[in-house]
Amino acid sequence: MSPKITGYKTHDIRFPTSLSGDGTDAMNTDCDYSSAYVKLYTDSELTGYGMTFTIGRGNDIVCMAIQELAKRLLGKDVEELFANMGKTWNYLSSDSQLRWIGPEKGVIHIALGAVDNALWDMFARSRNKPLWKLVVDMTPEEIVNATAFRYITDAITRDEALAMLREKAATRAEREAKVRELGYPAYVTSAGWLGYSDEKVARLTKEAVQAGFNHFKMKVGADRDSDLRRGKIIRSIIDDPQYLPPGTKPRDPNGPDLKGKNAGPTGSVLMIDANQVWEVPQAIDYVKSLAEIKPWFIEEPTAPDDILGHAAIRKALKPFGIGVATGEHAHNRMVFKQLLQADAIDVCQIDSCRLAGVSEVLSVLLMAAKFGVPVCPHAGGVGLCEYVIHLSLIDYIAVSGTMERNVLEFVDHLHEHFLYPCSINKNGRYNVPSNPKEGYSIEMHEASIAEYECPHGSYWKSVRA
Ligand SMILES: [Mg+2]
Repeated sequence: MSPKITGYKTHDIRFPTSLSGDGTDAMNTDCDYSSAYVKLYTDSELTGYGMTFTIGRGNDIVCMAIQELAKRLLGKDVEELFANMGKTWNYLSSDSQLRWIGPEKGVIHIALGAVDNALWDMFARSRNKPLWKLVVDMTPEEIVNATAFRYITDAITRDEALAMLREKAATRAEREAKVRELGYPAYVTSAGWLGYSDEKVARLTKEAVQAGFNHFKMKVGADRDSDLRRGKIIRSIIDDPQYLPPGTKPRDPNGPDLKGKNAGPTGSVLMIDANQVWEVPQAIDYVKSLAEIKPWFIEEPTAPDDILGHAAIRKALKPFGIGVATGEHAHNRMVFKQLLQADAIDVCQIDSCRLAGVSEVLSVLLMAAKFGVPVCPHAGGVGLCEYVIHLSLIDYIAVSGTMERNVLEFVDHLHEHFLYPCSINKNGRYNVPSNPKEGYSIEMHEASIAEYECPHGSYWKSVRA
């Protein structure tokens, strides 16, 4: 007899990152990285852990929405839920009253992300596999059944998805072996937060080069002169062979993995991120004026829902060799569908917690592969790096079949709160999560919950006292 879901508990967990300037950009000036965290219980030992991410106030509202959705799972047989995760996702997103406060956007949708992520975690734990391995061991039919397919069949049909997955199925094992050996390519953002001084930016950039990274991202959009100055500081370090780790040769900036990315003489790539601050014409002018620091792409140049605005920016920047990336605030698969259909993006930045969990992520991975756009997930915050390595592994092994031009965001914050934290190897690449007990890698230490739960955790009590 398979277990049934018997209960759930949410935790509003907030880390006081606003005190250090971590995570500051042109839009988000005082982030307290937060997790709206949920545990799903069964009548057996089996438990699922899930979360979605916020930056502080409002995290309690998300927790309330999670409770409303998790309630719909009470009494359900887990094997019936696991047998068709796409159907389960449709069930969870189809409560007509809760749907009204979306649909499929805002608080209710990111709350669904936490619940769907928790169910996938439970599914992976029940099979003694990390989440990515659970998915890449599925048949193409099982993966398509696990995908949120509603409203995207004008961009990709189930049959097309099946054909794509089948084409890649025979060579999955080769790619799995390769990525286990090499790790998955990553880039760093931690050096380029707006709240950091020039000295701190230079020091962190040198450290990142030493750690083996060769893609770097900087926040822009608050002050053009300062952006240009910081961009030149970063470029002067990443383009200078003297800072490379001992024994490392510069990479060929025109090689197949770097071509078209505006790589400098050592093969290093710079990306810039405006976090939505500009009007469309302003974005075009501002980014043109930063052309001399040679970014690969501008990320989130304008409002995340403005699909045609992104398309216009991409068209205008094309002659300058600068691309457009977005997705961390693209609130559902239909936004990604239209970004792809409108030729609006060069890089697809899914977010593991803004999309409503693994099932909706699968739909975007499939569409991006069909349109030939690389997926470079958004991460950072708290827990996002733990999540996205699984998604990029699924993309590489089972869906797109390529990782050579992809880079997965890495930010070195708050990993110590997780039982199975992500990690980076000496070549600046993500290690493959390989503990059969870790599920989707998001279980948090009980001591961290006790300290940072808001408002009654020991940290927040001490602040008030
Ligand atoms: Mg960003």
